[in-house]
Amino acid sequence: MSDGSFSLHGRKALIVGCDSGIGLACARSIAAAGASLVMSGLDQAKGEALASEIAASTGQAVHYVAVDVRDEGSVAALVATAETVMGGIDIAMNNAGIPGPASAIQDLNASDFDNLFAINVRGAWLGMKYQIPVMLKGGEGGSIINLASTAAISGLAFVGAYSASKHAVAGLTKSAAIELAPHNIRVNAIAPGPVQTPLLDTMRARRKQAADIPPSTVPMGRAAQPEEMAGAVVWLASQASSYVTGAIISIDGGVIAA
Ligand code: NAD
Repeated sequence: MSDGSFSLHGRKALIVGCDSGIGLACARSIAAAGASLVMSGLDQAKGEALASEIAASTGQAVHYVAVDVRDEGSVAALVATAETVMGGIDIAMNNAGIPGPASAIQDLNASDFDNLFAINVRGAWLGMKYQIPVMLKGGEGGSIINLASTAAISGLAFVGAYSASKHAVAGLTKSAAIELAPHNIRVNAIAPGPVQTPLLDTMRARRKQAADIPPSTVPMGRAAQPEEMAGAVVWLASQASSYVTGAIISIDGGVIAA
């Protein structure tokens, strides 16, 4: 039952892929809302420094574990470490993602396509594969938040593989939500529009090279800052969203409405 509370006090959160951008902004907000936290990503030295900084500013226990989501053993070890360090996992955010190649569908290269799916789709699935048993064992439900995109709702020309990968994340999210609803484990995804991060810079540069098309229109006339994703993520992690599952929530400055 919801007590309407946005507090994450006493909760245990794992974020997969939070060296920068949206994941890092959400790490700061989740710890500030009261959760202990295991951060992860590709850059051990940078990640440890970020974890220390967030621990100092929030007073929460924050750890960093290196992971490459392409490697099943690495994901399994991350989840096992998070369970041991925090004594369980209530909140899991599967955020790791790359922009992948930008080209016409017929020019896509198979190994680029496979690498994109290994990170954006198989990586998100592997995260859930190992997080779900820990949440089931805890017996108190949980909240899983995946990273879709407005490109999971509509197509995006010249980054078709990325759009397909995010449609797949949405499908995994909805299916897991149905399977886990009886266990009070909620599974949702956010669908950001353009967010000012290294990923967006790379995608825009590659897309511009691939095709002479204007950037997509954003009714609000700007990209979001990563921090503008964090409110919805804290809400989805908290009891304030206790009846929300299987949702793909656009946070997009009006992109999908347009
Ligand atoms: P970012 O480049 O700042 O962050 C990507 C994160 O993924 C980094 O922390 C990186 O360490 C991690 N990562 C990448 N490959 C990994 C791997 N193999 N193993 C483990 N971690 C890995 O980009 P961002 O924009 O913050 O992206 C975060 C998520 O948001 C992605 O899933 C992205 O697709 C999604 N998204 C971004 C936008 C946008 O406009 N920026 C829009 C919609 C969705």
